[in-house]
Amino acid sequence: MKYALVTGGSRGIGRAICVKLAEMGYTVLINYQSNIAAAQETQQLIADKGGASELLPFDVSQPEAIEKALDTWTEAHPDDYIDVLVNNAGIRRDTLMIFMQNEDWDGVVDTTLNGFFYTTRRLLKGMLGHRHGRIVNMVSLSGIKGLPGQVNYSAAKAAVIGATKALAQEVASRKITVNAVAPGFIATDMTKELNEAELKKMIPTGRFGLPEEVADLVGFLASDQASYITGEVISINGGLYT
Ligand code: NAP
Repeated sequence: MKYALVTGGSRGIGRAICVKLAEMGYTVLINYQSNIAAAQETQQLIADKGGASELLPFDVSQPEAIEKALDTWTEAHPDDYIDVLVNNAGIRRDTLMIFMQNEDWDGVVDTTLNGFFYTTRRLLKGMLGHRHGRIVNMVSLSGIKGLPGQVNYSAAKAAVIGATKALAQEVASRKITVNAVAPGFIATDMTKELNEAELKKMIPTGRFGLPEEVADLVGFLASDQASYITGEVISINGGLYT
């Protein structure tokens, strides 16, 4: 049994990644924070395609919750380890910096950057011991270019890009790859309140991307074919470059 954990797998890009990895033969651990109904929908989509999954709720910003959930999972699966980790959970708390409250800053940094750190550190041991692993971090165009109104989000995603490059060098000799995927505008709950008609005029392909398109890229990075790609940030943005 090969296991993959996708944080924020209940909705949007994370859901599409769960389905993709299940199609590739992984038993997918669907993490979510609170939306159990959406997580169960992801589970059903996987089951409909003949795949296997388990729900694994925890808040990625809470290290004790992560340890507890994964300790319980490990006790139930003493001979298994998690070979693929997709750090996808993320939130936006957009506002101009002059108006940004501490909780807007802390919420985004805790989820994106600290969530990456706590979850990845927990799973690294198993990957190092088994001398194999794939870590894919969901970052953003915002973390490369910087976007006004997203000082918190741009900072957190840029920090994860730095961490991706550093960690990739630490673990490459153990056949663990660490890469980042940087989407532009993707049609999910996170972007549903944006003015798509206006924004898509800036995108050379003239449309928002689909979660499934991001999932195909993540699936490739998780595959054996991508074993010589590490420490990279791969953009998927319809040509919307900096
Ligand atoms: P989304 O539709 O808003 O879904 C967010 C997911 O993250 C949900 O599954 C949610 O769980 C989970 N989540 C949020 N906070 C969490 C926490 N503290 N612990 C565990 N899970 C948590 O978002 P999305 O658009 O699919 O975005 C997914 C990732 O792609 C994010 O990292 C985002 O920054 C990045 N991204 C998105 C876009 C875009 O255009 N959509 C562009 C660039 C980058 P619940 O369902 O339980 O709330």
